Parts: sequence; C-alpha cells; structure tokens
Amino acid sequence: MKYYSLNKKAAKVSFKDAVIKGLAPDKGLYFPERITPLPKTFFKNINTLSNVEIAFEAIKQFVSPEIPEEVLKTILEETLSFDFPIVTLNKNISTLELFHGPTMAFKDVGARFMARCLGYFNQNNTNEVTVLVATSGDTGAAVANGFLGVKDVNVVILYPSKKVSDIQEKQISSLGQNISALEVEGTFDDCQAMVKTAFLDQTITSKMQLTSANSINVARWLPQMFYFMFAYKALKSTYKDIIFSVPSGNFGNVCAGMMAQQLGLPIHHFVASNNQNNTVTKYLKTALYTPKPSVQTISNAMDVGDPSNFIRIQEIYKNKFETLKNNMSSFSFSNDQTRAAMLEIYTKYNYVADPHGAVGYLGAKAYLEKNPDSHCVFLETAHPTKFLDVVEHVIKTKQALPSQIQAVIGNTKVATKISKYEDLKKYLLA
Ligand SMILES: *Cc1c(COP(=O)(O)O)cnc(C)c1O
Repeated sequence: MKYYSLNKKAAKVSFKDAVIKGLAPDKGLYFPERITPLPKTFFKNINTLSNVEIAFEAIKQFVSPEIPEEVLKTILEETLSFDFPIVTLNKNISTLELFHGPTMAFKDVGARFMARCLGYFNQNNTNEVTVLVATSGDTGAAVANGFLGVKDVNVVILYPSKKVSDIQEKQISSLGQNISALEVEGTFDDCQAMVKTAFLDQTITSKMQLTSANSINVARWLPQMFYFMFAYKALKSTYKDIIFSVPSGNFGNVCAGMMAQQLGLPIHHFVASNNQNNTVTKYLKTALYTPKPSVQTISNAMDVGDPSNFIRIQEIYKNKFETLKNNMSSFSFSNDQTRAAMLEIYTKYNYVADPHGAVGYLGAKAYLEKNPDSHCVFLETAHPTKFLDVVEHVIKTKQALPSQIQAVIGNTKVATKISKYEDLKKYLLA
C-alpha cells in the first residue's frame, strides 16, 4: 500500500517509509491511497473468527507487501495477547473494555503493533531510529512498554511534570534500557511543541532518524480499527443498529473506527465524546473549525485543543460537512457531569468507569435521547485505577490494584528534567 500526504505536496511512500518517517516531509499526515472493502461474507461470518484472524483481514491491505503475511500473523498474535471484553449495562448501552493490556489503556494495541513493525523493518538494518513522543500520560506508558528492548530503536518520552498520574509517571520513567524519560517543566502543549520543533530541526534530523509514536503514525493509528470489529462480533446477533461513543482527544481512535466502517463494518453512527476541549463539538454545530489551547480536565488524555487526526476524518468524508454530520455526532461534558456519570454508572450498574469512559457513557446517553432504539457501545479507554484519586474520591470505594499496576508502583523513577527546547536538543545530540 502506498500512502500520500494530506498536505498533497510530498511524494507517496510505502507503509515502511510512512512508519519510519511518521509525518510526511511537507508536514502532512499520511493516508492510505486506497481502501478496499472486505467481502460481505467476512462480516457475516465474523463470529466464527478469532481476534487475530479478524485483525489480520482488516489490516493486511494496509501493510502489504512490506510485512509478509506470516510475519503479520506473528505480530498480531503478540500484539493482541489479552482480552477485549464487552460488558452490557442495559438493553441500550454496553462498554468495550480496551484496558486489559500491559499499561491498561487502549494505546497498548497501537504501540505494540508499531513497535513490532519497526523492529521487523530494523532487523537487517544498522541504522538506529529514535522515537520521540510527547505524552499526557497514556501514550508514553504504552510506548515505553511496547518498545522496551526493540533492537536499534531508542525511545525518548517527554511528559509534563506533575500533570500525569503517579502510576503513569512510573510506567513512563522506570523501565530503563532503550527508554528515556524527559520531565518537562511545562504543559503537554509545551512537550508537543518541543517535539514538533525537533522534527523540523535539521541539525538533529541530519544526524538521526526521528519518528513519532502517537496516532499521527499510521502503525499506531490503524490497528485501532480492530476494536470496532471485536465489538461488532460480540453484539451483532443481539442488536441491529450498533453505534459507538468514543471518548476523543486527538481523534485517532474514532477515525480508526471510520476506517473500519470504510472496510464495510456495519456501524450505524459515531459519537465523538469530548470533555471541555470541544473544538469538534463546536465544529459540528457551526461548521467553523476553531482550535483553541487545551484546558486541563479530569479526563486528561483528551485535553487536546486541535485534534491531529481531524484532518484524516475530513479526508474520509471528502471534506463534506453534511456527510460527516450524518455519520458523527459530538457532545461535550464538564468535569462535574463526568463525576456524576461515574457515580451513576457505579450506583445503577455496579460498574466502575474511569473519567474517559464516563465521558463516553454521557455521549451514548445524549445520542440515545433522540435515537432510543439504538444500541450504543462506549469505549472504556483506560482502567479506572490509572486515575485512582479521581475514581476513589467520586465513588467513595477503595479499588484493588491489578497486577499490571502493582508491577510498576514500587519502581524508581529515572527522568531528566528539562525546561526549554535547547535542553531537548542538547539531550538528543549528546
Ligand atoms: C488517548 C486517550 C484518549 C483519546 O484518544 P484519541 O485517539 O486521541 O482521540 C481517550 N482516553 C484515554 C484513556 C486515552 O489514553
């Protein structure tokens, strides 16, 4: 598969080059040149297939021929070695739990897939690649874990000091080996700006191959299609109109769902559920896209003022506002509404949701008000104990820590403090 840049100025590249470069030289995001729908029988018989078989069919066209089929199977078996359970709350609402991986947020799947693709591309290669990534918490954790020990790949993670949870900080900063953590005195936006500057800095890029590991990278983004297929497999015999409510920040996850839909997955509608960072909610109301600096909320992984994948969504719908609007709704919720939703989910259904999942639940309920016959799946994107303080405070119940969290909680943090771009540059060139 060839990928083109959405800025339309750079040359088309292979999957391999799209993964290694991350972003096109004209700063555009890469997008697949073609999307060939899967045969109808695939969706009809999906309940007879394993998760790995489903994933294989979904992603094959996007990675071939650079990743041979046998290698792809192995990569997928390793990537998807945990469960993706559906929990049904009532006849209209289910949740798909995407937090059973090693760092307990949905980003594990994309990070593990991308790490293995880069590892494969590097196996006969002596050039090192440096993965440079800014994180508000979960991406850094998933990338650190997914890339640990991958040959000839160095990972440098920038995170905002005191703005990630304790558990996230341990996940990012305590693994050692090829993973380095930079603790930035500033906000997530500052981290992101430093990373962007480094990508454009020729003193750096002439000396090392930099790539990104956030959902800009096609190998991080596309595997997220699988979730929607797994949910469909579990629910298709019970419910007719399945819609998804996706707690959204950079809009990579919901955009991957739209790719699954392009492959033919019968998804009736998407709800992009936002916290107070509601650039897209406003866009669907006004047709004006007005990015804003992010504000801090209790669902911090969605504190994004200018979602990077929105441009891919525009491409999928050929920049037609009405087509997008027919296929996607968006709602935005405050911290107080999110806390009230966490409490409601706990008292009504005895289910503990994290703040991001709770925003997804609210989006599902808002959609169901006008579409009471649908079945809405909200994605539970992180385990509640990753946000222990908020969760225990709201539902007033102590939470047991899962083994993945226990495994890092006693670790020692090792991070280099930086405060400005020059510090990052010095660090990378050292
Ligand atoms: C990253 C993240 C999101 C937002 O996902 P996008 O693909 O950036 O829209 C939502 N919830 C959690 C827990 C996350 O870590």
